[in-house]
Amino acid sequence: MNNFSYFNPTTIHFGKGQIASLKDELANYSRILIVYGGGSIKRNGVYQQVMDALSQQQVFEFSGIEPNPHFETLIQATELAKQKEVELILAIGGGSVIDGCKFIAAAACYQSDAWQIMETGGACIEQALPLGCVLTLPATGSEMNKNGVITRAATQDKLSFGSDLVRPRFSILDPEVTNSLPAKQIANGVVDSFIHVLEQYLTYPVNAKVTDRFAEGLLLTIIEEGPLALQQPHNYEVRANLMWAATMALNGTVKNGVPTDWATHAIGHELTALYGLDHAQTLAIVLPALWRYKQQQKHAKLLQYAKRVWQLDDANEQQCVEQAITLTEQFFNAMGVASKLSDYQLDQSHIEAVIDKLTEHGMTALGEHKDISPEDVRKILELAL
Ligand code: NAP
Ligand code: FE
Repeated sequence: MNNFSYFNPTTIHFGKGQIASLKDELANYSRILIVYGGGSIKRNGVYQQVMDALSQQQVFEFSGIEPNPHFETLIQATELAKQKEVELILAIGGGSVIDGCKFIAAAACYQSDAWQIMETGGACIEQALPLGCVLTLPATGSEMNKNGVITRAATQDKLSFGSDLVRPRFSILDPEVTNSLPAKQIANGVVDSFIHVLEQYLTYPVNAKVTDRFAEGLLLTIIEEGPLALQQPHNYEVRANLMWAATMALNGTVKNGVPTDWATHAIGHELTALYGLDHAQTLAIVLPALWRYKQQQKHAKLLQYAKRVWQLDDANEQQCVEQAITLTEQFFNAMGVASKLSDYQLDQSHIEAVIDKLTEHGMTALGEHKDISPEDVRKILELAL
């Protein structure tokens, strides 16, 4: 097992009616900026629940954070936060709103060009406003981690940053607010959270038994509950289990003591920035192709995954592994997320720009062994055509 340091101070309030706990969480703040997306929170009653809990505070609002949040929009929100001298940012939404708010929280305290936050991956952050979250879409784990992914639309750059200073102080997870999600977003969340676990699990064995079994527990849960969430959209227990699984998938728990991959996410971010695919769609395309390309190197963990998660016991190890990859791809497809570039009208001619962007972003040595070069990415994407 590898060495690790584990730090996660975010308070979670989980369950029905928990939005009311904002009252206590925010009792010591008087000026708050609430930030949300395109308006789903007004239609499903979440906005009203938040407002009911904020009767003591002066509340300022910024709406219109788009999926894959744009730097250009976040700068406007940052200006408002500064101008109104707010004491806390309250994100109400999915990963895009929460990631965006992490950026706003840091940018509001940053004196130079705020894009430097992205260029340095967050290393330049020395101060940030406190952040609280009301999660409305289980997927990213952003509600309990230190990372954010921001897109500069003008240059088609989608970059990640991270800082302990932007970790949410608290996050409210009420599974009932996910009832209004369209099937497509449920499916995206299932695929994203599943792949978060896999990016931390499917590397090479280091005898981290606790972490491996936590990861396998999450994978089994998502495989079980994902399809049920589509079939039984009002089943609270299903929504509750999926919501907690998505948070646990990327809050540090399954990273402890193991190597991590993250090549699928790196390649996927470029596909979203260049061609506008949803985050989860890009992951469903890249992951199976990457595994096929790296099958030998990842053999031991693929076999463990085949046996423990898909319960395959074919004596032929090679067949076991291949079947596990196929079952994984079929799981994404069964959730309604297609897994080939051609499903999104992309072909060979679209690959070069991905390679160029990865190179421009210095992502030339990806994966747990840092041995996936831009030329390897080309071959991986060719396997996904
Ligand atoms: P999202 O982009 O936050 O939201 C997608 C859509 O779902 C929006 O149109 C939103 O509408 C709608 N929506 C959200 N909650 C809803 C609800 N309860 N009912 C109805 N509609 C609802 O989706 P996401 O998958 O959570 O976030 C994706 C972003 O997170 C990507 O940029 C991705 O790269 C990033 N990401 C971050 C991390 C991390 O660790 N920080 C990890 C993985 C991915 P409204 O705008 O109207 O609310
Ligand atoms: Fe993700």
